Amino acid sequence: MQAGTFLEASVYFNNIAIAIREVYPSKRVAILDIDAHHGNGTQDIFLHESNILYASIHQHPLYPGTGTESIDNCINFPLPSGTGEKTYLKTLRKALSTIKDFSPDVVAISLGFDTYESDPLASFLLRRESYPKIAGMISRTVSETGARCFAVLEGGYSNEIGKLAVEFFEGLNL
Ligand SMILES: [Zn+2]
Repeated sequence: MQAGTFLEASVYFNNIAIAIREVYPSKRVAILDIDAHHGNGTQDIFLHESNILYASIHQHPLYPGTGTESIDNCINFPLPSGTGEKTYLKTLRKALSTIKDFSPDVVAISLGFDTYESDPLASFLLRRESYPKIAGMISRTVSETGARCFAVLEGGYSNEIGKLAVEFFEGLNL
C-alpha cells in the first residue's frame, strides 16, 4: 500500500472533544490547552459555541501554525520559542483570569508536557519545578469557580515525561 493511501484512510479522534460531548454535553466548559502546540482541531470543533471557552498557550511559530490570534470564544496566547517560566506563568495567569470570568461548570485541561526545556519537538524552557506551579495556579482557579476538572494527556516527547506528570499531579490541589 502506498503511504498516501494509508494517510487518506486515517481517522483522528479528538479525545477532549469526545469527553466534553459525551460527558458534559450541556455544561459550560472551559478548555485550558497547555500543550506547546496550538489545538487547531479543538478550536475548529468548538469555534462559536457560546457554552465553550477555549484558551490555549502555545509556541508560535510551530506546527500547525494556527492560533496567532483570538477568534470569538477561542482565546489564543502565542509565545515565541525560548519562552521561560516567568513569561509562561504570567501568560497562564491571564488565561486563567479569562476562564474565571467565563464561570465554567467544568475546566478541561489539554495537558501537554512538550513545554519542557528538553522536549525534542518544541522550544519552551519550562523546568521540572514549573509543573507544580502550573498545577497550583490551575487548582486555585478551579476552586474559585467551583468547577469540576479533568485532564486529557496530549503531547510530551522527552524521556522525562513520567517525572513531569508526577510533578504536575502532586501540585494539583483539588
Ligand atoms: Zn504538542
